[in-house]
Amino acid sequence: MQISRSKDLFAKAQNSIPGGVNSPVRAFRAVGGDPLFINKANGPYLFDEDGNQFIELINSWGPMILGHNHPQIREAILKAVETGTSFGAPTAREIEIAELIVSMVPSVEKVRMVNSGTEATMSAIRLARGFTGRDKFIKFEGNYHGHGDSFLIAAGSGAVTMGQPDSPGVTRGTAKDTLLAPHNDLEAVKKLVEANPNEVAAIILEPVAGNMGCILPKEGFLQGLRDLCDKEGIVLIFDEVMTGFRLAKGGAQEHFGVTPDITTMGKIIGGGMPVGAYGGKKEIMDFVSPAGPVYQAGTLSGNPIAMAAGMAMLTYLNENPSVYSTLEASGNRLLKGFQATQEKLGLNYTMTHLGSMFSLFFTDKEVYDFESAKTSDTGLFGRYFQAMLHRGIYLPPSQYESWFLSTALTEEHIDQIIDANEESLREVL
Ligand SMILES: *Cc1c(COP(=O)(O)O)cnc(C)c1O
Repeated sequence: MQISRSKDLFAKAQNSIPGGVNSPVRAFRAVGGDPLFINKANGPYLFDEDGNQFIELINSWGPMILGHNHPQIREAILKAVETGTSFGAPTAREIEIAELIVSMVPSVEKVRMVNSGTEATMSAIRLARGFTGRDKFIKFEGNYHGHGDSFLIAAGSGAVTMGQPDSPGVTRGTAKDTLLAPHNDLEAVKKLVEANPNEVAAIILEPVAGNMGCILPKEGFLQGLRDLCDKEGIVLIFDEVMTGFRLAKGGAQEHFGVTPDITTMGKIIGGGMPVGAYGGKKEIMDFVSPAGPVYQAGTLSGNPIAMAAGMAMLTYLNENPSVYSTLEASGNRLLKGFQATQEKLGLNYTMTHLGSMFSLFFTDKEVYDFESAKTSDTGLFGRYFQAMLHRGIYLPPSQYESWFLSTALTEEHIDQIIDANEESLREVL
């Protein structure tokens, strides 16, 4: 595979951009080698600057659930551009998307649009604190909630990959209000709450974790948190930036039948444009300014182009429930194929999967939290990643990121991935 243009661009990028990238994981540091510079994307394919074509399993880290350059979303964006790109004033389109989100996501009665998942989670925590009058909150090890200061404590995603779970610049004053529990450990959460009586404003989690690889909730874990929060007057926040509109049109809360008080959203919600949102019960959301005292604002929030893209995406998902059965079928086909390969090669690596989320962990241990995820052989993952890339499969460049399927993948594409997996495993083991 020829990647000389990407190599040149990456070298040039170092001069004007820190590390050559605008988000750390893109630099491929966890897997070695130079990152590919992408020139265009269409359907299930990415094309790099050297003209190589790849089957996509990142899909912009989630948003492109329908594949790239989907005609309905492209048309909606082009149409919106003709009437101006930003007004800084309310538009009818914002009511439409708010009403659609409320109709799709079970626990959301009112919703505020922001510009990223990071903004959504930062705002949700401020709101939970303002609403309860309490300062502390509980998060889970290996969960990633964007790069807000109070979340960069044992965080997943790039923070794991870069080996800086506690970033310099986050003050001890901030960190002391973030309480940590092992993922999937309800007893540990109960102990934390007991040890901090009437001090815990919120519990925030990824209902299906995706930022330490894909990790499913244990039976009863989500409901146990719900019950505990009800008993203790704690605000339960599902960070559905990744799972929202992905695991079902109403996200993980619809899939598992457990409803949080506040939901944070992002990624898919913008159809590829920079959008986030947080929503929940009316009584809580009415604490947000200007209805209530908790301040939160945004010059470009509810941006008309972004709203048009998001509206087109959500409308499509709302009107085509077959999206979710298609993704489930693709996920099952991938899992079965990988299982057959492992049997053939006498391997026992752990795989996790729900709908269109998938992880292959290079460990034979069960993976249910951050510690067990870290038993993976990340060096082996790096070699496997490169072997897959050379066979035209573009995986997330880290063991600790979920793979994302899109509806643009046909059975043939899935079979190509399965074949590449077998060849790659044979090469690297
Ligand atoms: C990606 C992600 C975020 C951060 O969203 P950004 O748009 O990157 O700021 C927050 N929470 C979860 C669960 C995510 O996957």
